[in-house]
Amino acid sequence: MRVDVVTIFPAYLEPLRLSLLGKARDRGMLEINGHDLRDWATDRHRTVDDTPYGGGPGMVMRPDPWDAALRAIADSDGPAPRPRVIVPTPTGRPFTQAYAAELAAAPWLVFCCGRYEGIDARVIDAWADDEISIGDYVLSGGEVATLVMLEAIARLLPGAVGNAESITDDSFAHGLLEGPVYTRPPDWAGRRVPEVLLSGDHGAIARWRRDEALRRTARRRPDLLAAMDLDRRDETVVAA
Ligand code: SAM
Repeated sequence: MRVDVVTIFPAYLEPLRLSLLGKARDRGMLEINGHDLRDWATDRHRTVDDTPYGGGPGMVMRPDPWDAALRAIADSDGPAPRPRVIVPTPTGRPFTQAYAAELAAAPWLVFCCGRYEGIDARVIDAWADDEISIGDYVLSGGEVATLVMLEAIARLLPGAVGNAESITDDSFAHGLLEGPVYTRPPDWAGRRVPEVLLSGDHGAIARWRRDEALRRTARRRPDLLAAMDLDRRDETVVAA
């Protein structure tokens, strides 16, 4: 997968060299190119913003540097005829695990990191395939939102996570939150690991995990349960 990120703060992208994302890059599964939007500004101050039409506070990102940047990227030699262009914005469609899986299947993504009051709407109309929100709050820029999305997407690239089961067991993979997890020691500070996990009975462990996931989801995210088709046994666990 190829990813291009356009920002006025390329230094924000440094964490993309670490951990799972860094390994995926080292292994050649993921190419990430950061671009400084100011490289496409045309004045000597490298200006990329201007005052909003109609008045109001703050500044708006100008369309011309964005268009030049996106043209240069789209015209470069990529793994697809054209990239899927993503604009992080609090006004966008909510980012979910299912959305991450959809984007993980794309060969080429471009993230456009807005700042100030956002990007001139004409750029969005002309270029954006997706406008995505990572939550109902307002960040100062699209960079952290892009890091969030890329980390979720990279986990889903085939072979990126060592043990593929850890992805299929993750929260949201089956519509549920994951239940609690434990490691050694079996007794810690007066708290004991649930006996079933020490039993070696794989069937009983799988059932316990499913039940804990159902109970946790019912308590914390009933909206997720409401969207699922539960069987009789699941219904009983949730009702208990
Ligand atoms: N005035 C905009 C509004 O109220 O919708 C907010 C602009 S925000 C200060 C600047 C940039 O941060 C946005 O253009 C977007 O790129 C990014 N951003 C802020 N919150 C976000 C969120 N929840 N999800 C995705 N991107 C976000």
